[in-house]
Amino acid sequence: MPVTLRQKHKKPDVKAKLAEEHFRSEMKDHGLRCTLERIAVLREIYESNSHLDADELFVKLKNKGVGISRATVYHTLDLLLKFHLVTRTDLGHKHTHYEKAYGVENHLHMVCNVCGRVLEISDSRLSSMLETLCRQNGFEPENFTLQLFGNCSCSQETSLPSKHS
Ligand SMILES: [Zn+2]
Ligand SMILES: [Zn+2]
Repeated sequence: MPVTLRQKHKKPDVKAKLAEEHFRSEMKDHGLRCTLERIAVLREIYESNSHLDADELFVKLKNKGVGISRATVYHTLDLLLKFHLVTRTDLGHKHTHYEKAYGVENHLHMVCNVCGRVLEISDSRLSSMLETLCRQNGFEPENFTLQLFGNCSCSQETSLPSKHS
């Protein structure tokens, strides 16, 4: 089978396993029940290489036969945020997107205003510049999400705009 980008999704992910261990121990420490539904939300996010909103997560889990309510999805996302296992990003769709954070480098999102495409850019220069700015202002950085809105090359393509993420 030829190596394609798509295979990235299927590779057994050490980071996902570690994130799950971290989640389980945090829930234990906080006296929370480690339910299958909560673990399913974490797994779904870590299996995905994109940015998901709460509704997308809910539908994906429902389609997989996970008996979960919207309220549980939202509540679990709050827990994952609190334990630094997901980051929240506003990609300009009037709702919040979530993505995995454990073992993921902080990055810049370049969001296309026309087709909604999201490019992820990691650059050590960006991180070190932000660290310097934080140091200069006596601020302790934890993580960041940055969004930059503009136009990708889609307007030069003849195809119709694809659906946003
Ligand atoms: Zn575009
Ligand atoms: Zn991202």
